[in-house]
Amino acid sequence: MERTPRTRLAVVTPPVLKPCEPGLSGAAAASALRSLGVDAAWLDGALGWFRHSLSPANLARCLEVADASGLPEGVRLALRRGARHVEGGALAFVAPELYRHRKRYSSAVSHLENALRLASVPFPGTHLRVGDVEIKGRRALSAEHLEEFADRDGPFDAWCEDGLLPWLDAGGFTHVGLSLTFTQQAWATFRLATLLRAHRPSLSRVLAGPLVSCWSAVGVDLGRPPFDRFDRVLPSGDEAELTAFAAELGGVGALPHRPWAVDLAEAAWERYLAPVPIVPAAIGRGCYWRACTFCPDHLHDRYRPCGRDALGDWLHAVAERFPGGAMLHLTDSALAPAHLERLADVIARDRLPLRWHGFVRFEPRFAEPGFARHLADGGCAMLQLGLETASPRLLELMDKGQTPELERAVLRATSAAGIRNHAYLLFGLPTETDAEREQTLAFVEAEGAHLHDLNVALLNLPRGSPMHRHPQRFGITAVSSFGPETDLSLYDDFRCGDSHPRVEARRWLDRRFYKSPVVRRVLADLRNPFAANHGCFLA
Ligand code: SF4
Repeated sequence: MERTPRTRLAVVTPPVLKPCEPGLSGAAAASALRSLGVDAAWLDGALGWFRHSLSPANLARCLEVADASGLPEGVRLALRRGARHVEGGALAFVAPELYRHRKRYSSAVSHLENALRLASVPFPGTHLRVGDVEIKGRRALSAEHLEEFADRDGPFDAWCEDGLLPWLDAGGFTHVGLSLTFTQQAWATFRLATLLRAHRPSLSRVLAGPLVSCWSAVGVDLGRPPFDRFDRVLPSGDEAELTAFAAELGGVGALPHRPWAVDLAEAAWERYLAPVPIVPAAIGRGCYWRACTFCPDHLHDRYRPCGRDALGDWLHAVAERFPGGAMLHLTDSALAPAHLERLADVIARDRLPLRWHGFVRFEPRFAEPGFARHLADGGCAMLQLGLETASPRLLELMDKGQTPELERAVLRATSAAGIRNHAYLLFGLPTETDAEREQTLAFVEAEGAHLHDLNVALLNLPRGSPMHRHPQRFGITAVSSFGPETDLSLYDDFRCGDSHPRVEARRWLDRRFYKSPVVRRVLADLRNPFAANHGCFLA
């Protein structure tokens, strides 16, 4: 009888990611594939690479390079200080007290940044950051630049040789899948593909992940370089694709209706920089609103929450794994109030040591003081709210389904319940005027007491969003790319007649918004590249 050759899949999360929690997509995909019977294991390469880069041995090597490099003495002194602090700097992030002192927290971040700067020294033109990497004169949105980078020695090679390849050899894998979620992972993803092709050619290389699905959805040709460094690219990331892929690897059945989550036994929780384990998970797929005209979410899966019982079971499993407490990072596009009510019910009723944060829309239910208190009692530490603007006209233009009055009522109710409000603002909208920007500033100043953090962004027009597909409806007269080196960008620039809203908004932000004492107080001069991932712990 003919035997099917044994297959074993390694799912690798490539660097660079913030080193405070596991990257969800790869870990959850490996867990889901196992539930279908596939022999799969997951490696957090982002964490492995980060730890390798900041290891005493590597930093000592980097110091030698720095000393021989002719760098000014002052710079070398700063780098040496970074190396000295790195142990303490990294470990400081596990201490809950650190998050109660903004100055001490910012200084721990500076030490970490200095150590990463030192780890960059052997690679001129490369600047490693917390959760990011900059390659001078090169953009990760350019297929050509990714190709060039993938063909030369760089900051990911040593970890590949010392960490990734030995792990793959020991595991006896036949396939390796790289899970690509964020643009800053693209450099390592294609470089690792090149190294795997050179050093382990018998391994079948597969590329998948949310960024790949987004590229596919906006029409990027996934068959051309640099994608051809993989034997296979999985373009959609949906359940049908995953189950079909599982079947090829010997799996069978349908995906269970449970949270999309990291296998609790698989992550090295104690190695992340966080005061308690941060457990990322999506308790639903897709967005239930799917209407915002600047958002491309409708290109992806329809909304599908996980089952109520499965949610309760998962919460109990996390609590059992972390009796000392954990922070759930709920990564859903928008968490539905009814689903959150169930989550808070279970946590409060069964006194589970869990807190959580995630993105929500401004829904009338969040403005009910009783409901907000229920969420707080049920572990809600922070809500990330897509406020965008306080201009009624622009809110309508965006089809946000919210008004400034609702925004105000929600912020007041949730902050009164003790929940941190992290508001996301969007400027540079089509046809936006300075007067409308002033409306948003006035709103922020009036509600400053109920805002605990702000994320301020300029609108990049997502390809495939309603605004992008029907620009004239929104007063957009021209859509153009951000330049010749942005062929992999998911966004475009735009103009409204003579007006360039993004540029005008940037000037206004500098001239008006960032000068506001209330805005300055909310932003509080904090150095926090970890953003909301640590923001939920900050006093
Ligand atoms: S912006 Fe948020 S709420 Fe609006 S459609 Fe996109 S994911 Fe959904």
